Amino acid sequence: MAYRATLILGDGIGPEVTAATQRVIEAAGVKIDWEVARAGLGVLKETGNALPKETLDSLIRNKLGLKGPTDTPLGEGHRSANVELRMKLDLYANIRPVKIIPGQITPFKDVDIVVFRQGTEDIYIGEERWVDDAHTIAEAVSRISKFESERIFRHAFEYATKHGRKKVTCAHKANILKLTQGLFLNAGRSISARYPDIVFQDRIVDNMAKELVMYPSEYDVIVLTNMFGDILSDECAGLVGGLGFTPGANIGEGVALFEAVHGTAPDIAGQNKANPSALILSAVMMLEHIGESEAAKKIRESVYQVVFEGRVVTGDAHLLHRVGKPASTTEMTDEIIRKVQS
Ligand code: ATP
Repeated sequence: MAYRATLILGDGIGPEVTAATQRVIEAAGVKIDWEVARAGLGVLKETGNALPKETLDSLIRNKLGLKGPTDTPLGEGHRSANVELRMKLDLYANIRPVKIIPGQITPFKDVDIVVFRQGTEDIYIGEERWVDDAHTIAEAVSRISKFESERIFRHAFEYATKHGRKKVTCAHKANILKLTQGLFLNAGRSISARYPDIVFQDRIVDNMAKELVMYPSEYDVIVLTNMFGDILSDECAGLVGGLGFTPGANIGEGVALFEAVHGTAPDIAGQNKANPSALILSAVMMLEHIGESEAAKKIRESVYQVVFEGRVVTGDAHLLHRVGKPASTTEMTDEIIRKVQS
């Protein structure tokens, strides 16, 4: 049976890593009819809209999507296609697993963390305005609701239960933002009461940032509001060998959209240098989501083996033993495919 999914190529390295990922999925024997749709800076420049209605309709219709990174112009102007996608499709749970792949050089052992970032609230709701006519003061609203906070904690605890994880940590700033962050923390406390077998703890977010670079193996599932989750998940990517290896999923009640944590990497775009692993591992999450566990396992093991061997890996990876010169995106993809088919 062929699945149907929306494919957003994105900007920068997006077309390179999405093409690589499609090839790997096909090699694993999973048939997907891809409906290609557009989002990001490329389509914004052409049409004035970073997230065309057809793209949203395609995702709603297919309920499943894979997405390359999309670019947003900095400063004034348009809202990020990523933020729009999460808001409009109610993708409330942004899940970012970070795990050391054997063969990578990192200062740590045993990092295996899953970051749950709330995806639709907080400062990302886009309520930012000038306070004075001279435009010398600006403010932004961080909105946090009990409904959404409980929903992300419920999702995180259910995930922990299903995956045999033992500890959920809420990272917050409730000491300063007593209403918004306090509400988030209280939601975590009340949901945790229903899961007596899982330890619940909380950390002030600045302390959490420090703890992560000192004792990352102490942490298991971490739940955060939108902006803290954005920042700390990049920090977590740095614990395990960088953005080239960190996958992600955006899950809502209706649609699931899978994308790597990394951005468009303009410095290496179009040069066949991008590490395809982060998007390939996002596709592994997608395959698990649709029940293709065997193919997912095979692809994950193949990526891990290629990294461990260190012969055909892109230049961004810090490896214990790299054999020869850095590989191109295409060469690394070919090597992963060879393992998938072996
Ligand atoms: P965004 O604002 O879109 O999140 P960013 O500014 O955080 O983007 P990235 O585009 O993720 O940044 O890139 C940060 C650095 O990591 C760059 O030097 C980039 O080349 C590198 N990088 C990101 N993704 C990859 C990848 N898949 N392979 C190799 N290097 C990567």
